[in-house]
Amino acid sequence: EKPLPIENSTKPAEVLKEVFGYSHFRDGQQQVIEQVLSQRDALVLMPTGGGKSLCYQIPALILPGITIVVSPLISLMKDQVDALTASGVAATFINSSIPREQLLNIYRQLQDGKFKLLYVAPERLMQLEFIDRLHTLNLSLIAVDEAHCVSHWGHDFRQDYRLLGQLKTHFPNIPVMGLTATADIATRADITQQLNLQTPYVFRSSFDRPNIRYNLLSKYKAVDQLIHYVKGQEGSGIVYCNSRAKVDELSFKLAKQGINSAGYHAGLEPEIREKIQRDFIQDNVDVIVATVAFGMGINKSNVRYVVHFDLPRSIESYYQETGRAGRDGMPAEALLLYDEKDAARIRQWIAMGENTERHDVELQKFAAMEAFADAQTCRRQVLLNYFSEYSGAHCGNCDICVNPPKRFDGTIQAQKVLSCIYRLEQNAATQYVIDVLRGKSHKRIVEQQHDKLPTHGAGKDQSEAHWHNVISQLIHQGLIRIDITQNATLKLTEAARPVLKSEVQVTLAVPRLALETSKRGKND
Ligand code: ADP
Ligand code: ZN
Repeated sequence: EKPLPIENSTKPAEVLKEVFGYSHFRDGQQQVIEQVLSQRDALVLMPTGGGKSLCYQIPALILPGITIVVSPLISLMKDQVDALTASGVAATFINSSIPREQLLNIYRQLQDGKFKLLYVAPERLMQLEFIDRLHTLNLSLIAVDEAHCVSHWGHDFRQDYRLLGQLKTHFPNIPVMGLTATADIATRADITQQLNLQTPYVFRSSFDRPNIRYNLLSKYKAVDQLIHYVKGQEGSGIVYCNSRAKVDELSFKLAKQGINSAGYHAGLEPEIREKIQRDFIQDNVDVIVATVAFGMGINKSNVRYVVHFDLPRSIESYYQETGRAGRDGMPAEALLLYDEKDAARIRQWIAMGENTERHDVELQKFAAMEAFADAQTCRRQVLLNYFSEYSGAHCGNCDICVNPPKRFDGTIQAQKVLSCIYRLEQNAATQYVIDVLRGKSHKRIVEQQHDKLPTHGAGKDQSEAHWHNVISQLIHQGLIRIDITQNATLKLTEAARPVLKSEVQVTLAVPRLALETSKRGKND
């Protein structure tokens, strides 16, 4: 079943122009296409929107037989096939949504060589019956889209993808290509191995999105921060948060402020979701508040900002979600609202998750995300380093570059907090500790005679927001822990003792509670 040598003299550039209507290849496309046409396996690492599809669609049109495209999402499959059909390309898809009658019809047409591209879900592809059918076809190429799904290291491992490694055994002479927007070294090596790629041609484009400004705010009265931020923006934006309930709450609060917004999550009726997507794409709605269910396959180029109201669980997710901003190349912004306390909670969720064999991987991925949020150096560098793209230069377009972190000797402030917690017998939660520190005398404080404590009022000189942030930092530094089994009361750790005895110093960062500048863009 060795494929016929290619006699077809059609040039990739001609197909690009005549079928897809583009006059220039993007970075990497031509090299990949040429390598694939010469029968070599390939691994293509390009960010979302980078133009991966053409890397297999053009070979599919030039090679004599049929190209199989493995794709995990039914909706994306249909979109791709519709777009190809509209360009006059003979393409179809097979997945669980296709009725048997129609399936048999597709099989017949495949047999007759009617299609150049067949999109198929992995679980279907690897059924032996289906593999047998493929053996009777004139196969030219197998493309595995979202190839990181084969990897335990990927952020999106899928059981169905695991079997794809057997493709090389079934079809040793057919070139296989993996395509993904995930590019850390571990995942990359794993894809090559799992798919059994033979000395693949590897192309990776830069993951840098220079027009996106990365920004971070320490969460404090986060809903107000969000409203204030959104009101100061022009154009379309997406606000991601991590639960449906929060989507409902935030979209309600934004709407109440007169902001033209809508909520989106997987719990809504499909028709409503489609309408919201359409409204957003057509600029009828400015802001979408959504869970991560929103955005996959949405091709809107003029999204001006993406806000993460909650911390994502991996850099890959963060990169993918923020990458939906500024596809048109114009200045755009990614704002992360960060709270160390959220991080502690997420770590706990991960540890309690069902899939125990993934805990370590997920914790490591989350640690990398936290490191990004805690970064004291250029955030773009941290991000690109994660994708093994080392860059020595500071970008000048992230909050750290624009407004470098200021550190101070926080020993005395830390001592005030720690001793206040101690005097309150480690029995008070954050807000109460802060109230005592700031010298409030509300009913409970007076009743408990906490206004008589020496630490009462010791922190009058700083704002409530400041103390919230200091406590977060002390939690993060391991001097305090939150006991969630006891009404989130604050407890001292062993590490707090030498601080209280003035044996060690504590360095704190000045909280980032307001954006230094609302100006955006690389050349500001
Ligand atoms: P990916 O799969 O990497 O996320 P796509 O293949 O969907 O990206 O491509 C993203 C967009 O870029 C599509 O609208 C596609 O038509 C467009 N595109 C791809 N290659 C080119 C090119 N050479 N010239 C112009 N537009 C291109
Ligand atoms: Zn920077």
